Amino acid sequence: MTAAVRTRSSAELISAEKPVLAHNYHPLPVVVARAEGAFVEDVEGRRYLDMLAGYSALNFGHRHPALIAAAHQQLERLTLTSRAFHNDRLAGFAERLAGLTGLDMVLPMNTGAEAVESGIKVARKWAYDVKGVPADQATIVVAAGNFHGRTTTIVSFSTDEEARAGFGPFTPGFRIVPYNDLTALEAAVDETTAAVLIEPIQGEAGVIIPDDGYLVGVRELTRRANCLFIADEIQSGLGRTGHTLAVEHEMVVPDVVLLGKALGGGIVPVSAVLANRDVLGVLHPGEHGSTFGGNPLAAAVGTAVVELLETGEFQRRATELGAVLRDGLAGLVGHGVVGFRARGLWAGVDVDPALGTGREVSARLMREGILVKDTHGSTIRLAPPLTITEEELVAALGSLAKVLGSGA
Ligand SMILES: *Cc1c(COP(=O)(O)O)cnc(C)c1O
Repeated sequence: MTAAVRTRSSAELISAEKPVLAHNYHPLPVVVARAEGAFVEDVEGRRYLDMLAGYSALNFGHRHPALIAAAHQQLERLTLTSRAFHNDRLAGFAERLAGLTGLDMVLPMNTGAEAVESGIKVARKWAYDVKGVPADQATIVVAAGNFHGRTTTIVSFSTDEEARAGFGPFTPGFRIVPYNDLTALEAAVDETTAAVLIEPIQGEAGVIIPDDGYLVGVRELTRRANCLFIADEIQSGLGRTGHTLAVEHEMVVPDVVLLGKALGGGIVPVSAVLANRDVLGVLHPGEHGSTFGGNPLAAAVGTAVVELLETGEFQRRATELGAVLRDGLAGLVGHGVVGFRARGLWAGVDVDPALGTGREVSARLMREGILVKDTHGSTIRLAPPLTITEEELVAALGSLAKVLGSGA
C-alpha cells in the first residue's frame, strides 16, 4: 500500500521558494504545472490563456507536437557531443536556418544574451581584421531603451538604471543614441564604428515600433559608413510580427541577425548568430566557443522549428490574427486604453494609469484566466502563441475590456 503523495498547493510552493530562490523576479502568483498549445494549467487545475508565450520563446505554443516529437526522437539517440566532435544534426540545422534567413553562415549558441555577446565579438573582430580599426578602438552604436540581455557587457550599454545599478565597472566601447533617430545615429557613427546594434522593434521597452523608413535608413547608413548592421531579432523574429524576421517589414537584410527565444521551440535554449561568410568568417578555431552550443538535441529541435516556419503558416496567422488584435485594441482606446502599438501578434498596450499599474492590470487579468506581463509603468505586453485561435484571442480582448471596466 502506498501512502498518497501530498502535493503542495500553489500558495505553499510560492512560500517555499522564498528562502531558497534568488529574488531576481517578481512573478504573478500562479504556479504552472502543465500546458498545451495556448493554455497553461496551475497546480489546482485552473486554466489560463498564455498571452505572454515566454516572451516569444513559445511562438508555436506549449509542447507543439512536431517539436515534442523531434525532441523525443533525438533523446532516444544522442543529446550532447560538445564541439570537440561533429554531430550528425548540426549541419542540417545550420543549412536550414541559413536558408530560412538568406544568410550564409550560422554560429550556434544557447541563450539570447550569448548570441548578443557573440555578435559583439564578431563585429569587433571584423572591425580589426577587415575594416582596419586600430586595436581596441572599435565602437558599437546602440539605441536608448534597448534590451539585449543581462550579462555585464550587455548591461554596460543598457539605459535601464535598474538593470545596471550595482553591476559596474562596465565594458567600454558603446555609444548610445535615441531609438528611431537617424540623424543621431549618423552623428554617432565614425571610422571606429564596428556595428550598429538595434532591435527592429523594441520589445521590453514596450513594443516600440520605429517609423517606416528607419530600418532602411539604418541599412543605408551602415553600408555607407562601412560598419555592420546587427539586428537583434531574438524577440521580434521567427514569425511574431507576421514575417520570419521583423526587418522584412522594410525588406532590409542586415549583416548580422541574432536569433534566440522561439528558436528553441519552448523546449531547450537555442540561439544563433547569422551572417555572411565575409563577416562570420572572421572567427577561427579557439577564438570563440560554447560547450552546449550546437548540441544535437538543440539542433534537432531548432531544425523542427525552421521546418514549421518554412510552411509560412505561422507568419500568416500572425498577420491575420494581428489584424484582429489591432482592431480589438483600437476599440478599447478611450475605454481604459490610452494608446497601443502592434505589429503581427505583438502589442504594447498603455493602460490608463488611473486604472492601475501594468502589474495590477496583469494581476486582474490573471484572475480572469489570462496571463500577461507588464513592461514599464502602465504598459502591458500581449504576445500570445501564434497558434492561438481567433476565438481565444477575442475572448482575451473581452477579458481585457472587462478588467478595464469597459466590457461585460
Ligand atoms: C530576451 C532577449 C534577449 C536575451 O535573451 P536571453 O535568452 O534571456 O538571454 C536579447 N535580446 C532581446 C531582444 C530579447 O528579447
